[in-house]
Parts: sequence; C-alpha cells; structure tokens
Amino acid sequence: MKTKKYLFYNLFLVIFSILFSTSVNSIDDIGNKNNIPEISAHNSEISGNRKSNEKKYVALTFDDGPHPEYTPQVLDILTEKKAVATFFVLGYRVEQHPELLQRMKSLKCEIGNHTYDHADLHKTSKSQIVSEINKCNEAIYAATGEYPKLYRPPFGNMWKENESLIPLKKILWSVDSADWRTENPDRVVKNVISTVKENSTILMHDFYPQTIKALPEIIDRLRAEGYEFVTVSELAELSQLAKLPDFMD
Ligand SMILES: [Zn+2]
Repeated sequence: MKTKKYLFYNLFLVIFSILFSTSVNSIDDIGNKNNIPEISAHNSEISGNRKSNEKKYVALTFDDGPHPEYTPQVLDILTEKKAVATFFVLGYRVEQHPELLQRMKSLKCEIGNHTYDHADLHKTSKSQIVSEINKCNEAIYAATGEYPKLYRPPFGNMWKENESLIPLKKILWSVDSADWRTENPDRVVKNVISTVKENSTILMHDFYPQTIKALPEIIDRLRAEGYEFVTVSELAELSQLAKLPDFMD
C-alpha cells in the first residue's frame, strides 16, 4: 500500500513537473513572442534611419557676391535645376543689390555673412572684426528682414581666439572648386566631381564666368550620382542625424 502510495506520489511529481516545465516554456514563448515585435520595431526604426540616410547631401556655396551680372545667372540656373545654395555675401555689395538677396530668399537659398568688404580677419583688430561682421549683418537684415546664422571669413582666415567675438556659426568648405584659380569651366567641374563626397560643402564664387559655365554640369553630374542639394544649415542638421545610427550600433 505504501509502495502504491509512493508510486502514485512519484507519478504526481512527474506529471506536475512536466506540466510545470511546459508552462515555463510557454511563458518563455510568450515572453519571446512579446519581445519579437519590440525588437523588430526597434530594428525597423534603425533601418528606417539608415534608409533616410542613404540619401547623399551636398551644399553648394557661393562667395563674394552679390554680383550684378553673375549672381542672377547662378539664381537662374538654381531655379531651372530646382536646387538650393548658400551665398556668403559682402555687405557693401548687398547695399548695392538688395533685390538679389530677396531673390535668394524667395528661392529658399541661405544667406551667410562674408564681412562688409572682404577684410582679412587675420590682419584686423578685434574692433574691426566686430565692425566688419556687424555692418554686413545689418546690410543683410535691411535687404531681407532676417539676420544670418552663418559666416565665412574671407580666405578662410580667422584666429581661433577671436572666434568668440562673432555670435554666428563659422563655415569653411571641404571641396574647393578653385574657380578663382582657373578660367577653364571643365577644370572647375573636374575639381568638384573628383573630390566631392557625402556632406561636402563646395566652395564656389558667383563672381566668375567659368563658374556660371560649370554650374549646370556640376548640378547634373552630382544629381546623377545621387546627391541632393541642401543649404549649409540643412546639411549641418542632416549630418548630425546621419551620425545617429552609428551611436545606436
Ligand atoms: Zn571671399
């Protein structure tokens, strides 16, 4: 009787442990099932970011204008090609041609400060630096009703210790079209195409005929390579976003 009871007890234990292990498994399964959508949602979020980052962006920038002859031609080409650019303008030229800045603004282009009269900020006093930037800022404001967020020091020259004098974001360039050094538009195109990469800021000048001749081909070839044109501020935002998946990985 005792043995029978013992056997029955053992059988009960076996059945109980089988049931228990099954229920544990099913809890695991449910747990996994519950986790799966969460993980895949997370993954799809990452791949979603990657997908949007598969777009390649570049910023075209033009210095030293506005020029009465060449700037309207640049704006015509941008209009025709449905592209945007950023113009680093000189204050005294803005005062002469404020309507060109209004046209830049209406085309959703960005306007940056390039000093009042192309001063080399390596060679000017602190008070001159402030005056050069302020006078250009005021000229831009008078023409467009908005102050710029960016500046580009002429020749790229700026002492690091003087940067805090200017409450604007300093923008240089990563690709030099060297349109100021050659009169050959093919050379200008080649300089850009051979060195451009994702998130490049391309230096040009709305100041030379070779730039005007090279620009349509530069836009067409970059677009054929999958690049989209954005302003410098948009590029800064997008390239910050582009870094996100790296951090997530
Ligand atoms: Zn310049």
